[in-house]
Amino acid sequence: TISMAVIDKAGRIAVGTSTNGATFKVPGRVGDGPIVGSSAYADDEVGACGATGDGDIMMRFLPCYQVVESMRSGMDPKRAADDAISRIARKYPNFVGAVVALDKNGVHAGACHGWTFQYSVRSPSMNDVEVFTVLP
Ligand code: ASP
Repeated sequence: TISMAVIDKAGRIAVGTSTNGATFKVPGRVGDGPIVGSSAYADDEVGACGATGDGDIMMRFLPCYQVVESMRSGMDPKRAADDAISRIARKYPNFVGAVVALDKNGVHAGACHGWTFQYSVRSPSMNDVEVFTVLP
């Protein structure tokens, strides 16, 4: 899965997801990619979130919606990301997945479970893309 969140000069926030789907998926499976709030969610007033991982589990929790709503309630991106992942891991300890949270100020953080996760960031103040590694 590739999820991307962007903030434009006017502060508008957008997020999108593209996926080839889970490995060995059954033909016709839709997965979590097109489910709003599961693998992607954004709100200009708050921020955005993208997710990857076991979509059949993640779609039951709408983790990206959860992250954005937690940030709306005052959590910083790291705490919101950790909280969304832990809500899933509590019920599905073997689940593998990750979320990236971005607030409207450009503060970002990731959280993952079952694997080490990496995401990339680029902003106008950076000369190049920077890769961030998140440990479970
Ligand atoms: N979330 C995707 C799916 O379950 C897989 C992925 O993130 O790579 O279809």
